Amino acid sequence: MNIFLMSSRTLSIETVSCPSCGAPTDFNPEDVLVTCNFCGTTFTRGSQEISDHKFIVPKHSLAEAEKKIHDWIRKKTRFRGVKSVTLVKAEKLLIPYWVMHSRAISKYRGYRRETYTESKTVGSGKNKRTVTKTVTVFVPVNETIDEERYDPLICRMGAILFGYEEINDRVKELVMKQSFEDFSIEALKDAPEKVKFLNGEIKQSEAKELIETLIQDEHRNRARADTTELFDCRTRIELNGMLFLHFPIVYAEYQYGKETYRVVVDGNSGKILLAELPITTRFRIMAELVTFATIFLIWGAALFFIPDSPNEFSVSVLAFLVVAVILFLGGLKTNSVAWATESRVREK
Ligand SMILES: [Zn+2]
Repeated sequence: MNIFLMSSRTLSIETVSCPSCGAPTDFNPEDVLVTCNFCGTTFTRGSQEISDHKFIVPKHSLAEAEKKIHDWIRKKTRFRGVKSVTLVKAEKLLIPYWVMHSRAISKYRGYRRETYTESKTVGSGKNKRTVTKTVTVFVPVNETIDEERYDPLICRMGAILFGYEEINDRVKELVMKQSFEDFSIEALKDAPEKVKFLNGEIKQSEAKELIETLIQDEHRNRARADTTELFDCRTRIELNGMLFLHFPIVYAEYQYGKETYRVVVDGNSGKILLAELPITTRFRIMAELVTFATIFLIWGAALFFIPDSPNEFSVSVLAFLVVAVILFLGGLKTNSVAWATESRVREK
């Protein structure tokens, strides 16, 4: 059974010569766009070159990124009681995106309920007082959103990349600022064999439709937020162009004990976008001690402010112990992975 599956899969890989340099390039069944590893030309199955090819410039070589990952992981995990980690994998990946450059105009109508308070002084002398009342008004809304946009859409169907959301947010931020340049294979800072292009799985026409829907939804949501009731919202999108863009990341794996942990680095800024960190027993116990100390302090403060009879005192001691035991047992059952970015660590 497995052999049949494997053979059918192997058969459907198609090798196409790069229209620019002639190097053989593989198309997997789901690929609609591939990038030649030698010259960086991106082309369709029909050997049509993508002319508007941009990239976000990688600022570090793979070797530099590896060093950065290693040092960062060592620093972060030492605090967690980890003595040594081994980097078992590091690769520079170029993630494909379609970017739609457009002008999007939405006209919307509705009404907005606004309330304000009115106060006035009534009476005189001893009877003088201020009366306030709430006034509600219905204001008709007739507004237009008109903006130039750059909207990126990852060019992959099912494949979920580690750190996908963080990568996407970063690409959005950079693309919005137009921080991209014309693609150049020399500017990748590494030999072609050290760089891996992920193939594109979404056609330009499909990407255009998906992005248009996203813009319409976003505008409608903004119109909704601006009105109490929205009557209608019409969006017109003028296409200025579709760009194909590569975003560089370094994906790495390191080993601690028997487990493997993943790290993804922004190839442009060199920042860790997302990393998994081991939660060691020592770290868990430390975290629990901090929790207990906090509860103890709150409980102490509560006792201080609320005078207790001896009977109530023993009840609160018991309650405290029960809570402590539950928390301790719960803490021991947590997963062995925490997620971290360069600025924050999130325990699962
Ligand atoms: Zn080529």
